[in-house]
Amino acid sequence: CGIIGILGKHEVSPQLVDALRRLEYRGYDSAGVATVDAGGRLDRRRAVGKLINLSDRLVHEPLRGHAGIGHTRWATHGAATEANAHPHRHGPVAVVHNGIIENFRELRDELIAAGIQPQSQTDTETVALMTGRHMEQGLSPVEAARATLARLRGAFALAFLFQGETDLMVVARKGSPLAIGHGAGEMFVGSDAVALAPFTDRITYLEDGDHAVLTRAGAQVFDGDGSPVARRETRIDVGA
Ligand code: GLU
Repeated sequence: CGIIGILGKHEVSPQLVDALRRLEYRGYDSAGVATVDAGGRLDRRRAVGKLINLSDRLVHEPLRGHAGIGHTRWATHGAATEANAHPHRHGPVAVVHNGIIENFRELRDELIAAGIQPQSQTDTETVALMTGRHMEQGLSPVEAARATLARLRGAFALAFLFQGETDLMVVARKGSPLAIGHGAGEMFVGSDAVALAPFTDRITYLEDGDHAVLTRAGAQVFDGDGSPVARRETRIDVGA
């Protein structure tokens, strides 16, 4: 299971699939990517099984855009089906997640009571549903992601991508690893530095409870209390 996110300068979907290949060693049962294209349109492709199934689908149904997120899933809640594969989407937001949202049943019940119908059996989808709902209620993408993060219990590495936002990603970690990669006018996020090695050796590891707002200009990191914090950038050598 792994996560990748790129705010880049090139067509990002082949880069996302390559990075997911570098995370294959962690094991997975399905995979998917979402991108935002130059016009701000958010779209996704998902496939059960090996990454070749996803890359084949992308040949026939390409995804354009220089901003994107990708995921390999190791199912914990819900079978390995396309509907349960990530990214999960609700309205203007797409989300990838590694880990387990322990209180998802309570959150899911709240959403259902509010008239929102989940499309999957996963714990993860509640994150997309809540965030999309916050945005539909008028919160900005960053505020909406923060309002959701404040409700989550459990272990997670998360990346959020937003419709209409070609230069924005929100990422967060608690109990699952997540590394930010700094490029020249590009930003990356990944489950580990190995996934980011083809792109950059300048890495900032998020600490537990951190979230970060990424644009191509850089990363603003916030701790578990929501206060801005400086996390050290390191140079790593994992061999591209
Ligand atoms: N709990 C999530 C799911 O079952 C994420 C699993 C993972 O870490 O890949 O979809």
